Amino acid sequence: MNKTLSQTQWTLVFIFIAFAFSVALRLIWMYQFSDYEAFKFNGQFMINTNDGYYFAEGARDILAGSHQENDLSPVGSAASQLTAFFASILPFSFESIILFLPVFLSSLIVVPIILIAKSLKNLELGFIAALLASIAWSYYNRTMIGYYDTDMLNIVLPMFLLWSLIWAMNTKEDKYLLITALDILLYRWWYPESYTLEVSFFALLVLYTLVYERKNLYNYKLLALMLLAMMMVPGYIRLALVLGVFFLFKQERFQKYIYHILAVAVALFLVSGGFDPIWAKLKVYVFKDIVSASQNGLNLHFYNVVQTVREAGQIPFDVFADRISGNVVTFILSVAGFVYLVWKHKIMLFALPLLGLGFLASVGGLRFTIYAVPVLAFGIAFLITEFTSLMPNKGLKYLSMILLTTAILYPNYKHIESYKVPTVFNLDEVTVLDSLKTMADREDYVIAWWDYGYPIRYYADVKTLVDGGKHSGSVNFPVSYMLTNPQDTSAKLARLDVEFTEKAFRARESNQTLAGSNIEQMSKEYGFNDTNDFLLSLQTDMKLPPKTRDIYFYLPFAMLNIYPTVGAFSSIDLMNGDQKKSPFFFISRNFADKGDTIQLGNGISINKRDQSLSMGQEKVPIRRFVKTAYDAKGELRKEVRLANLGSAISVIYMSDYRTFLVVDEKTYNSLYIQLLVLEEYDKNLFEKVISNPHAKVYKLKI
Ligand code: MN
Repeated sequence: MNKTLSQTQWTLVFIFIAFAFSVALRLIWMYQFSDYEAFKFNGQFMINTNDGYYFAEGARDILAGSHQENDLSPVGSAASQLTAFFASILPFSFESIILFLPVFLSSLIVVPIILIAKSLKNLELGFIAALLASIAWSYYNRTMIGYYDTDMLNIVLPMFLLWSLIWAMNTKEDKYLLITALDILLYRWWYPESYTLEVSFFALLVLYTLVYERKNLYNYKLLALMLLAMMMVPGYIRLALVLGVFFLFKQERFQKYIYHILAVAVALFLVSGGFDPIWAKLKVYVFKDIVSASQNGLNLHFYNVVQTVREAGQIPFDVFADRISGNVVTFILSVAGFVYLVWKHKIMLFALPLLGLGFLASVGGLRFTIYAVPVLAFGIAFLITEFTSLMPNKGLKYLSMILLTTAILYPNYKHIESYKVPTVFNLDEVTVLDSLKTMADREDYVIAWWDYGYPIRYYADVKTLVDGGKHSGSVNFPVSYMLTNPQDTSAKLARLDVEFTEKAFRARESNQTLAGSNIEQMSKEYGFNDTNDFLLSLQTDMKLPPKTRDIYFYLPFAMLNIYPTVGAFSSIDLMNGDQKKSPFFFISRNFADKGDTIQLGNGISINKRDQSLSMGQEKVPIRRFVKTAYDAKGELRKEVRLANLGSAISVIYMSDYRTFLVVDEKTYNSLYIQLLVLEEYDKNLFEKVISNPHAKVYKLKI
């Protein structure tokens, strides 16, 4: 290496270049959409992950100094606290901060990677690995600009942990005892699920010590400090213990008590429940302990959310390989390179927990692949440095190094270029929520499907019934029911569900036990033992609980795409779990007018002559044909043509959206279709308060 720069200077230069590279590639998305105003709000791009609005809500409330009781704002979450901290010291808008935080925080991954390589005395290895890891496919996807979520530090922090463990083993310097423990504290604060990785690193260090360094007291000090940092007690207690014991370890006269201190640390860890998460898993997987459902109550059967989440489940090998290394060939070489690296530097075995968690993706779902990214980047980078060191002269060595590095980066660059994810909301949708904010009180509820929960709370500062973290079958049921059933029953259920949600919060505060779900509690209080009977009673003139706040319905057009999924949560018989036949709903945006017929796709076509619908071989008459359009003033105009009252199938043509809907009577009469698509609302129950081509808001009058 160049004589004019020291190792430390080279390290800093490499870190700086790799960091700048990682940041620059994350700006491509912004550049691609620079003219696209629909992705911007308040002069800045909006974020592109739903969950980000959760942490944004918390940060907003921390900065404001207060939030409403039971509004589910995560003011205690690390991501919200860190964001609020940056927002209070940096001269940028809040929108800019949440947009750019993932760019800068996730790019920090280059630091531990290059520092680890420094301890292997191979800085070029670290530089190449840092370039690849910082932009590799899945790491990019989950840390790109606007992907404001805990992922922005979820790999950085364990990589720092790996770095400090490696440096601790290689140098036996006292400062790495403290850095390792502090990193665990930080990682746990940021991401409580970090426990699995912490324990794996710990177990590996136990193994390493027993096999290679049984007599080395330093390792026992490190193990004791790690245990104290991992205990199941509040962070400030762990911090105090870590600092106190580190101070003892620095004293000469305590050296003979190291084993005693370790024994105490083990005892404290166990007593604090440090082993409980593992024990709980063993009970489920090994002893097949089945969680018994409560025997009292109505024992309702709700729709299982897992059925609709795509992420879980098997993934094909090439997707898995692309996600980790950007390319199948790179991935295979990376695995081979990592084996070779471990053979040459056994200290790299400490990276196994990260690799293991990454490989869990093949059973646990795509989101785990990012853990393997930096580890396997070391693998391919090591192959490159080993191969190029065989070159006859320096010129050829660096030329081949540049070519090979470019080759492994290229597929990942192409991926970034093509990965044009949209923002969560477009400008119109957010404008609706922004005006709702001035209308609604912070204690009011806005009802919408759970996907919209966090962004609604962030932009309109209200409460919601369901959101990205609260969407089990039991809380989704009433919301699904309201959106897909007639207005009068839905209006009543809305009032009931909101008041019962608040009642449940108050009951929990005063340690009362209510039924496991609102719908069960309602059934009981209205004197029904069968929830189906209770739901039928919604059609009668029932007495509703007193109104404590206003309720709004937020109805976006984008929900048309998920209408059947929304409906699935309430087309279930809660008493026996039988899934009901789903109401008919078909949407077509890609249709072709063939003169006599209009082909809607999926074998469905409209026959203009006899006003019927062909569905495969079947021919059904059309009940009514509805055409909607907005006039110059933006008012909805509709033509309804009744054709055949004997039929249950209607066709709606939303001309401004070039969209056809084919629906049955149940769907046609649903609150969502009546209020959003047709604006056919009962003036005694609802008031239209906001409307634009992307979303409408109705206020409940009862
Ligand atoms: Mn609030």
